[in-house]
Amino acid sequence: MGEQARTVLVTGGNRGIGRSIAEAFIAAGDNVAITSRSGDAPDGALALAADVTDSDSIDKAFAQIEEKFGPVEVVVANAGINKDTLLMRMSEDDFTDVIDTNLTGAFRVMKRAARGMIKLKRGRVVLISSVVGLYGSPGQVNYAASKSGLIGMARSLTRELGSRGVTANVVAPGFIESDMTAELPEKQQKTYLDSIPAGRFGTPDDVAATVRWLASDDAAYISGAVIPVDGGLGMGH
Ligand code: NDP
Repeated sequence: MGEQARTVLVTGGNRGIGRSIAEAFIAAGDNVAITSRSGDAPDGALALAADVTDSDSIDKAFAQIEEKFGPVEVVVANAGINKDTLLMRMSEDDFTDVIDTNLTGAFRVMKRAARGMIKLKRGRVVLISSVVGLYGSPGQVNYAASKSGLIGMARSLTRELGSRGVTANVVAPGFIESDMTAELPEKQQKTYLDSIPAGRFGTPDDVAATVRWLASDDAAYISGAVIPVDGGLGMGH
């Protein structure tokens, strides 16, 4: 793309969608760090153990990244979990655990990243939400709430940091083949497939290409947007 190598952080970059996103930035020649709780990483990435529910571990990871590559210019907040069950059966812990990882986790990472971006006078933030953040989903009151929260976060970041050369956008994947979706009952997978206009599930690479584009110079004037990568599943929401 003719752009200079930048420092990119992908949370939850050891597997699934996050791993494909990390690989896309590595292929583009960027310096990529990934964090996860379990450690593994794609070739060419700096792999760090950090839990997004723990500010100290995030701070330590940032210090290591900054020492090796310099300030983080691109943050992809991708780490996420789900604890699906119907509202009547959902415990308060089921709710707060999912919010703590998916929403507060993104807040913790962004709070730490903003410092460097403000100094650099540029930055790209991509928050990985979900089609269900807008569409809703039975059994996912906790997850959907966390994912719509990311939209308010990106839009507020846009208003706070837009004049500092920082863009903040949301990518809302639909049904993407990964560990998270492999756990869904076959019947539910079939129901989803029937409602996807594209007639197929998405791949982690479909999401990675969009994230990579949002972080490129080509998307310099796009901020506060919600970009669906869902084969048309959530259209109109
Ligand atoms: P996976 O379950 O395959 O991967 C989840 C990733 O998040 C792992 O890298 C995991 O790391 C990391 N993670 C979870 N909790 C924490 C934590 N507390 N601290 C640090 N890292 C953590 O999921 P996907 O690849 O499918 O999903 C990635 C993102 O995309 C998620 O935010 C998900 O909600 C979203 N998404 C996924 C869709 C899909 O269809 N798959 C659809 C829409 C959105 P570790 O290995 O250490 O557990």
